[in-house]
Amino acid sequence: MSAITGYRLPKAFITTVVGSYPKMPEAEEAIRKRRQGLITEEEFHKLVQPAIKKVIEDHLEAGVDILSDGEQARDDMVVYFAERIGGYSGGEWVRIFDNVYFRKPVIVARLEYKGPMAVMDWEYATSIAQGRPVKAILTGPYTMADWSFDLQYGDRRELVLELARVLRHEIEEFVKRGAKFIQVDEPALPTRPLPEEAELVKEALEIMLKGIEVKKIVHVCFGRIEKLLPHLMEFPVDQLDLEFKNSGFKLLPYVKEYWDPRKEIGYGVIDVHSLRVESVEEIIEDVERLLKLDVIPPEKIYIDPDCGLKRLPRDVARAKLRNMVEAARQLRKKYGFEE
Ligand SMILES: [Zn+2]
Repeated sequence: MSAITGYRLPKAFITTVVGSYPKMPEAEEAIRKRRQGLITEEEFHKLVQPAIKKVIEDHLEAGVDILSDGEQARDDMVVYFAERIGGYSGGEWVRIFDNVYFRKPVIVARLEYKGPMAVMDWEYATSIAQGRPVKAILTGPYTMADWSFDLQYGDRRELVLELARVLRHEIEEFVKRGAKFIQVDEPALPTRPLPEEAELVKEALEIMLKGIEVKKIVHVCFGRIEKLLPHLMEFPVDQLDLEFKNSGFKLLPYVKEYWDPRKEIGYGVIDVHSLRVESVEEIIEDVERLLKLDVIPPEKIYIDPDCGLKRLPRDVARAKLRNMVEAARQLRKKYGFEE
């Protein structure tokens, strides 16, 4: 299990996380200092390391197979990247109405890639993950566009595709440094569950991922995913990571109907909005609901939470991950996938 020999992933019911983890005080402090202009970008990533270390320790202790850096450096999944892409004026407060302000980054010039944005934290996480793979996670171009204020392009499609071109550079950086799992988060898509919107995301993903030969994942969550499912099957990715637990597994009949069996599933079995820790038995039952459909084989089922765990207290997040990993272990035993 050393970094040299690498970690052998289980043959089935691989466990992973979606990305974010409760923010550690060290990360809060680093973000504050960065925002106040007291430290450089390089110093910032150095200061975030103790926070990432705690996340990796929790993931390793729980026994998760594919980890994340907990997105400790990101106070907001869109603002973080906007602050590092050329053409944005940074996170400004846009007045919505009266005295209601919303922090929305503003695009004031043509967008350009200025260099690695999230790669350093991923590299550090990888260096302490005891050989286990760490997911490289980016906010997708559709969500970036949706949550930005555009004063430059004036055309949403053009903006989404431009962001895809910019983000592709970051993906190439990740791959160059050895990332084996690339995940693109598009939580804004289910807010407009329309075929033409899914088509736009597909086009953007083709720009971002064409010729990229590692495991490619898209995460979407909440909203009307059932309407999107047939379109998600057309995305140029290996895996779709979806939320099931919070919505009471209402997506399962649609999985039965529309799932392309060549696609892997990231199967959300942990409710990230609830403090209640799902029991091992409950998680096993929830995975078996998917197995009963007889559509996706255990080798293509990745078990994970619905979404990032950032809203939970750390001890709850840790307890949920522990039970999730134990459930996967028992499932492998039950279905004959022991090493
Ligand atoms: Zn999510």
